[in-house]
Amino acid sequence: MSSSQQKVEFFDENGLRTDGRRPDEIRPMKIKIGVLSRADGSCYLEWGANKILAAVYGPREAHPRRTQLPDRAVVRYRYNMQSFSVEERARPGPSRRSSEISKVSREAFEPVIFTEAYPKAAIDIYVEVLQADAGTRTAAINAASLALVDAGIPMRSIISACAVGKVDGQLVLDLNKPEDNYGDADLPIAMTEDGGITLMQMDGDLSPEEFTKALDMVTEGCRQVLAIQKQALAEKFGSFGKPEYATLRAEKISQDEPEDDIDDDAAADDEIREDVAGDIEIREDMSADVEIREDMSADDEIRDGMAGDDEIREDAAGDDEIREDMAADDADGVIDDDVEFTVISEGSGSDDEDGYDFDADSEVA
Ligand code: ADP
Repeated sequence: MSSSQQKVEFFDENGLRTDGRRPDEIRPMKIKIGVLSRADGSCYLEWGANKILAAVYGPREAHPRRTQLPDRAVVRYRYNMQSFSVEERARPGPSRRSSEISKVSREAFEPVIFTEAYPKAAIDIYVEVLQADAGTRTAAINAASLALVDAGIPMRSIISACAVGKVDGQLVLDLNKPEDNYGDADLPIAMTEDGGITLMQMDGDLSPEEFTKALDMVTEGCRQVLAIQKQALAEKFGSFGKPEYATLRAEKISQDEPEDDIDDDAAADDEIREDVAGDIEIREDMSADVEIREDMSADDEIRDGMAGDDEIREDAAGDDEIREDMAADDADGVIDDDVEFTVISEGSGSDDEDGYDFDADSEVA
């Protein structure tokens, strides 16, 4: 958020925003749950031009062992922005910004996950920003929330996130890029289904009256996001609240296993574990606490080391062909304006008219 010395027209003569939305309207959202076969749960989500991939692994035995908690599972969240996700290539690897977002996002989920059901275990949430266009932390939280459900992690509530901000003295919901860059305030919020706030950050200034109004607006935004999330879950698991989904939750909650069982489960399939965990060394780096991560990221030399060399990372992120596949629908990064939201249905493969080739999941993973 940089204060607006720069003259930007935020509203047209009809009071509509630069992308044609009303002040209280969120961007179109598309969701597909269960896109990665090797993750326990996954979700691909587009919100406006943001494109996010979330993967959840666990509950599984926490490594290294010193990170284990005797009475509950440790939740780990890694937000990562791919270097190709922004106009100017972003520096790969952890940064102070990604560490901060990872920390606050983890804290947004900790209150709702039944961590006490899985002592000594870890629940790992990875989000990759494939394309960024303001609001990536909230988009990532929405995707992660559904990936957690897909993984069968018992939760007290789904988490829904949205930002509200101020431009030209007017409150607007779900900031777009110019509003984020040149507006006067940005207030990202994550909340439970009954409105309990689990993440609140604020950049810029709001008066107490504006703040109260902003909270009302963003609560309504989160409610709209929740409706879209529920529809995506219904597409995947059957009608929300009907037996399929209820059973899924109940089964997981009743898995109040003794710790040995958890160890057995976690260790059960070495092959899968090795596939998904990738390099233990990298995992250990990532799971280190934020303070350590920030220390480490302070030192460019070490940071470069952690990030691995660019060539490898870019290979891992998929070749241009895959990236172009994923972005194929909208060269200009804009999802069909006339679509309020679309839940991508099961089996929408490469012949999907939007051009999403979800069968390529292993390459993306
Ligand atoms: P959020 O994405 O949650 O809104 P920020 O307010 O920090 O988080 O970032 C706003 C937007 O700025 C991002 O969505 C992205 O489009 C852009 N951005 C963030 N970091 C970088 C970066 N390192 N290089 C280029 N653009 C960036």
